[in-house]
Amino acid sequence: MIANYGCEDGSGIYYIRIDTGKCGDCQLRGCVGGCPQELFVIEEDDWGDEMAVVREDRRRTLQAVCAACKPQDRPPDPLPCQSACDRQAIEHTW
Ligand code: SF4
Ligand code: SF4
Repeated sequence: MIANYGCEDGSGIYYIRIDTGKCGDCQLRGCVGGCPQELFVIEEDDWGDEMAVVREDRRRTLQAVCAACKPQDRPPDPLPCQSACDRQAIEHTW
């Protein structure tokens, strides 16, 4: 399943998308320590599986929170969070 965390407004669409099908048996959990803003936490889903999610209190401000990692003129590819996830489970919509 693709889980979308974020928001959209007149300026754009700002979601972090996590392929939770890749998180279930992830051992390293690199996303948790790999994001300098500590956006990712591991939570148990309704079926008892542990998944990465984006902290709820940051979801409405992702554009600002991620700005230091993502200069508009030249965002790194991959982003730090993507480099930290060895399963390529993380995408950004902007
Ligand atoms: S590192 Fe990637 S696969 Fe592992 S829990 Fe985080 S987002 Fe999921
Ligand atoms: S772009 Fe930077 S701040 Fe945003 S989720 Fe990725 S590592 Fe964290």
